[in-house]
Amino acid sequence: MAAKIIDGKSLAAQLRHSLKTAVAALVARGVRPGLAAILAGDDPASRVYVRNKARACDDTGVHSEIHELPENVSERTLLERIARLNADRAVHGVLVQLPLPRHLDAHRVLDAVSPAKDVDGFHAANLGALVQGRPGFVPGTPAGVMRLIEHAGVDVAGRQAVIVGRSNIVGKPLALLLLQKDATVTICHSRTRDLAAVARQADVLIAAVGRPRLITASMVKPGACVIDVGINRLADGKLAGDVDFDAVKEIAGSITPVPGGVGPMTIAMLIANTVRAAELSIE
Ligand code: NDP
Repeated sequence: MAAKIIDGKSLAAQLRHSLKTAVAALVARGVRPGLAAILAGDDPASRVYVRNKARACDDTGVHSEIHELPENVSERTLLERIARLNADRAVHGVLVQLPLPRHLDAHRVLDAVSPAKDVDGFHAANLGALVQGRPGFVPGTPAGVMRLIEHAGVDVAGRQAVIVGRSNIVGKPLALLLLQKDATVTICHSRTRDLAAVARQADVLIAAVGRPRLITASMVKPGACVIDVGINRLADGKLAGDVDFDAVKEIAGSITPVPGGVGPMTIAMLIANTVRAAELSIE
């Protein structure tokens, strides 16, 4: 039987709809949530992501501003801009779009964002809070993945979850969220031996690599929940995930498409964090 398609686009639209109500309540108290995105350099994909985030802000009534800086921006100028936004009362969330130009130290830059405005959840303080299970901002992509799994009706407690990819922004925080929900978690990466055998153990399989069709049907346990985080631009200009969707959907129990799966949820969770930051600023 073909898998249930997990519709991230409609789930994200529902979430954004409920966020509009939260925004209206804040506006009634004299606070409009605001998000500032810093875009350093001219990476075309980053430009698209930042534009989509600004559009989602407009759609939910969140104020947004995009701060474009040249590819050769100095670290000092970038840090000064972050400091200014940290102090700006109209801005509740500050994000620095990744990847940064190579000459910049991403750790230093991300840690310059005030933890209270770090709506991407990439500051060491917020990632540390996640490790300890304390309150803090959780990165949007892993948070969105958890919502999608829940929406698919899958209870991860006691089940085998396999994540392919160990980045600080997706794989590692996602492993912590799955652990919090009592999954048994395995993280794979480029040095994993026999990825197929490990992946086949998964009740929940998450691919966050950036290689089109890395996950084939023979790597998937029948009935598994498959979440595809990957975004790959193919030679013909189309987008594809890391999962061979057409073949895997015949085996999986549920699966996210690309586009229309994790991507819209990432943005919705970012807006949710921005609204939360605004709420916390007046609590
Ligand atoms: P990174 O490049 O930071 O990490 C990729 C991970 O994949 C690394 O851990 C790497 O291993 C691992 N990997 C590479 N090749 C293999 C392989 N052959 N087998 C197993 N593991 C492998 O990527 P990100 O985490 O930033 O992003 C991953 C993908 O998700 C990208 O396509 C990105 O565009 C997409 N993405 C999508 C988002 C969304 O909203 N939908 C948001 C963020 C990212 P190692 O550590 O050993 O190098």
